[in-house]
Amino acid sequence: EHTLDTAFFIRWLTTAAQAVEREADRLTELDSAIGDADHGSNLQRGFRAVTAALAQEPPGSPGAVLALAGKRLISTVGGASGPLYGTLLRRTGKALGDAPEVSPAQLAEALRVGVAAVAQLGGAKAGDKTMLDALEPAVGALGASYATFAEAAGAAGDGALATVPLQARKGRASYLGERSIGHQDPGATSSALLITALADAAGA
Ligand code: ADP
Ligand code: MG
Ligand code: MG
Repeated sequence: EHTLDTAFFIRWLTTAAQAVEREADRLTELDSAIGDADHGSNLQRGFRAVTAALAQEPPGSPGAVLALAGKRLISTVGGASGPLYGTLLRRTGKALGDAPEVSPAQLAEALRVGVAAVAQLGGAKAGDKTMLDALEPAVGALGASYATFAEAAGAAGDGALATVPLQARKGRASYLGERSIGHQDPGATSSALLITALADAAGA
């Protein structure tokens, strides 16, 4: 199997940006139930800025693609999700270093570093009804083959669905206490889109 080059990483993020455009209304609707009804528009603004930046200043390595995207998300998304997704991409990119191409196994390992950084920044863990409920099962499923990308996408989607019966313990939704039960977490839902975009970009 071939390695993942700079063009692959640009394709991943532009595919993710398209998914965000397509699903923005749904993400905002989920956030209106247990948050402040801005998750879709937050990510739309962020990923539009990412797409524009990648076109204007095309980075020269996979790590640089993720670093630039993370920086843009942090600077354009006002909500909690901006710094969290920004940290995910920046730390994953940093873990990849400046290699011109990386293997699926190297990407899996780097994403585990990125997800751990999200957990550290937000102080959340699996079961708290956050994006980590999709991201942790996803990086748990990622391995050395492209087939594991599709498994990761499935695990992220299942993880997002599994947030419905949970009570939120972090972020805005936690202010609702027990009233957060019965709703799917918006961030876990967008994380599943991001991992699905990864599998789509890989053709897995
Ligand atoms: P805000 O809540 O500031 O309006 P968004 O609506 O864009 O930001 O994002 C909300 C999502 O962010 C939640 O659905 C949740 O998945 C995620 N989130 C919030 N706080 C945390 C945290 N401390 N750790 C991990 N994820 C979090
Ligand atoms: Mg919100
Ligand atoms: Mg907000």
